[in-house]
Amino acid sequence: MSGDLLNLQTGLIYGPINSRRLGSSLGINLLPTTYKACPFNCAYCQYGFTSAKGYTTQSDGSDMPDIESVTATLDEALEEYPSVAYITFSGNGEPTLHPEFGRTVDEVKKSRDKLAPEAKVAILCNSSLVFKDEVREALARLDVRIMKLDAGDEGTFRRFSRPHKNVKFEAVVAGLKRLDDIIIQALFAGGEAGNYNDFSIEKWIEKIGEIRPNECHIYSIDRPSADGKLTLIDRAGLLKIKEKAEKQVGVTVKVY
Ligand code: SF4
Repeated sequence: MSGDLLNLQTGLIYGPINSRRLGSSLGINLLPTTYKACPFNCAYCQYGFTSAKGYTTQSDGSDMPDIESVTATLDEALEEYPSVAYITFSGNGEPTLHPEFGRTVDEVKKSRDKLAPEAKVAILCNSSLVFKDEVREALARLDVRIMKLDAGDEGTFRRFSRPHKNVKFEAVVAGLKRLDDIIIQALFAGGEAGNYNDFSIEKWIEKIGEIRPNECHIYSIDRPSADGKLTLIDRAGLLKIKEKAEKQVGVTVKVY
């Protein structure tokens, strides 16, 4: 797949967007607005390749918003959109890279309680930092945790998710096992760097059986990606993964 990549979010709060899975969702971008900050460099990333500057497992937060800015901007948006269904941490990379992610979660929940009490506070997280206790503790305080796991083995993880050297596959899996009430999301794509092959799928299903999430959401690429040679998996291909996983490990898999 090739074509234009997505532009980075230019602000701290964006939307509400009508998300495929969450419905009406106000996004929170805790990441820099001039570059992607992410411990992964996924072959399919809609923002293109992770640059050396943003490819890290920790940040001093110097290019990231402080908590006061987050709450002030969020409060303004919630006053305008009090009936959003979700307030979702996502944005230009991995939200848990923010050095004060835990405190930010608590303040965002206070804003939610005050201005949009029906909304759930969610995260789209790539799971790269779940090996850190403080990250897992903050994630546990959210209402909804949608955690990425595109690979079930080290080789596919290195080839497809392309993590920073400090991110170890088994530590990610161990961290996910220690989190309750999670949804795993996984993107499947074909091509040389892809994860749509018998071995990768088999290993992914095995890990899902070990992690035992509430459910899995699977999908394929729907827009240009960093590695233009990845190929789309059609619905029939995704349904095969669903059937196999549900039969083998008894975890509900939804195809998007
Ligand atoms: S985790 Fe998300 S932001 Fe990071 S490289 Fe992968 S797709 Fe891009």
